[in-house]
Amino acid sequence: MIADKMKDYVKGSSVIRAMFEEGKRLAAIYGPENVYDFSLGNPNVPAPQGVKQAIMDILNEEDSVMVHGYMNNSGYEDVRSKIAESLNRRFHTNFSQENILMTVGAAGGLNVILKTLLNPGDEVIAFAPFFGEYRSYVANFDGKLVVVPANTKDFQLNLETLKEAVTPKTKALIINNPNNPTGVVYSEETICKLSEILMEKQKEFGTDIYLISDEPYRELAYDGVEVPYLTKYYPNTIVGYSYSKSLSLPGERIGYLVMPECLSDYDNILQAANVANRILGFVNAPSLLQRVIGKCADMEVDITPYNKNREALYNGLLECGYECIKPQGAFYLFVKSPTEDEMEFVEACKKKNILIVPGSSFACPGYVRIAYCVAYDTIVNALPGFKEVYNTLTSSK
Ligand code: PLP
Repeated sequence: MIADKMKDYVKGSSVIRAMFEEGKRLAAIYGPENVYDFSLGNPNVPAPQGVKQAIMDILNEEDSVMVHGYMNNSGYEDVRSKIAESLNRRFHTNFSQENILMTVGAAGGLNVILKTLLNPGDEVIAFAPFFGEYRSYVANFDGKLVVVPANTKDFQLNLETLKEAVTPKTKALIINNPNNPTGVVYSEETICKLSEILMEKQKEFGTDIYLISDEPYRELAYDGVEVPYLTKYYPNTIVGYSYSKSLSLPGERIGYLVMPECLSDYDNILQAANVANRILGFVNAPSLLQRVIGKCADMEVDITPYNKNREALYNGLLECGYECIKPQGAFYLFVKSPTEDEMEFVEACKKKNILIVPGSSFACPGYVRIAYCVAYDTIVNALPGFKEVYNTLTSSK
């Protein structure tokens, strides 16, 4: 008999993954070229050539004991130094290897930091719409996820509601910038206001409130938009980074946490996060990939194909009659459903072999997420189906 808690996890198991499985089923029946799968955020732009070269160089040149061995649970010191130097150069920060802990992707990093911080019943605030896995990550450590409803006007953070959501039990907030599923980049103005509110609330309640900045999409920002580096605005910030999207390496499971010295209880947090990485069963981030990052810390994927897709899909959907805000980052578009119940829209799209994810999976019903990390032709070929669905659903109103 499985654990009661696991039963809940299985029941709520990711709708996104279910859609992905549906895509494979439909592709087997109709042929992959006739299925338009916009369900999963799996990068379709290849990793930079330099990554492949780095893997080969490391395997050819380095001592295999060094490449494949255990190391400090926080990761290789030289790799962490390279990352700290890269961050300092780009964001004018002042980190050293001490501030960096190598993790098994962003998912691993989030679980490490939540294990480090949460006592049972502690509250963690997330702003809708958010990556649905946050629910499970917080539940893993018996925390309580408090959801601030979406600001559907521009999908910036709903800060007025935040003021009421923070309580003496608030231990942390998670924000994700650029955002999955909206593609919105929270502006410097939004971040300054957020920081002000959190400082006030810390003072009012005499507590520490940690801001966890989940940043797997940091490098995927278009039209030169700036993504603020949050440790400069709010001292109690922990950054969770991942190379899943910035280097197109999601299956390799590599990322890191940044824990700056100005954190309250810095020494204990650093030590606890190192132990959490070990006892969660990660032990350490994958050794070979750490060494690769040591050589590729400043590399990024070419985002030109994503940008081309963004323009084609955004303009194409507007022409069909859909409403959505233009994403500034990541590779998702968050579209208002033409029907109040977005499941009706999702099902109508499925009949045209178009797979999209309902907004309820991101705590924002009435919308859908379309992942545009797909071949350009998939977008072009899916647009007539999107148009037919729009016309059918709006004419029956
Ligand atoms: N956070 C967000 C917002 C994501 O979209 C994802 C993956 O899609 C993750 C975290 C997990 O990323 P990783 O593959 O690095 O664990």
